[in-house]
Amino acid sequence: MKLPIMCSQCINNDIASEHPIVAIEFRDDGRYEITCPKGHKSVTILQQQRFEILYEIGACAIIDGYYREAVSSFTSSLENFYEFFIKAVLFEKGIEKEMFISCWKQVAGKSERQLGAFVFLYLSEFGEVPILLDTKKVEFRNSVIHKGKIPTRAEALIYGQDVLNILRPIIKQLKTKYDKGVQEAVGQHLIQCRKENDHPVTTMGISTILSLTFTNSDDSLEKSLCRLCQKMRAVKA
Ligand SMILES: [Zn+2]
Repeated sequence: MKLPIMCSQCINNDIASEHPIVAIEFRDDGRYEITCPKGHKSVTILQQQRFEILYEIGACAIIDGYYREAVSSFTSSLENFYEFFIKAVLFEKGIEKEMFISCWKQVAGKSERQLGAFVFLYLSEFGEVPILLDTKKVEFRNSVIHKGKIPTRAEALIYGQDVLNILRPIIKQLKTKYDKGVQEAVGQHLIQCRKENDHPVTTMGISTILSLTFTNSDDSLEKSLCRLCQKMRAVKA
């Protein structure tokens, strides 16, 4: 799926209606350098966190019929959320960003260690065991990712829904109890995405199925796919 981005200079000059949109591929660094049809160069930073984008990519993969890729992206979204959770909670408690980065280096690239950190931090904060993927789902995920299993659309959809069911309540808890930490983590992400000489820079938010911003949606993945499908068609058109 491509991301539709409006040229900020065209908007300022009120000529947006002529050539409103540049469609651009999702990027790893969240920084989108565009040249609009009028030749204006600008940089747009996407506000969404990596776990939100990864989930969206998983949903796009279902629409496109790539079910193994969907399971893989949903899994990465889940794992990436653990990092965001830990970061937001620790920022709320006043832990310095540099200290977080130093500690994260010890667990970077090791998803089992990250999961362990999440489970015990969650216990410490909420006094209960976090809901995780159950054993069957973990076996399913491992067979897809490590053993080349080819899942059906229905299996990918159920797996994606399970991830959604796990993460949405935790995101709500996180925003309620650790809003300052969440804002700091988002702010840090925006700063990281920028380059020193970027000018002009705009920040853009998009609505995603798994969303840190819009936490009231309880739409199922299946229902959300219909909307996403329309969006994808609009961008392609
Ligand atoms: Zn322009």
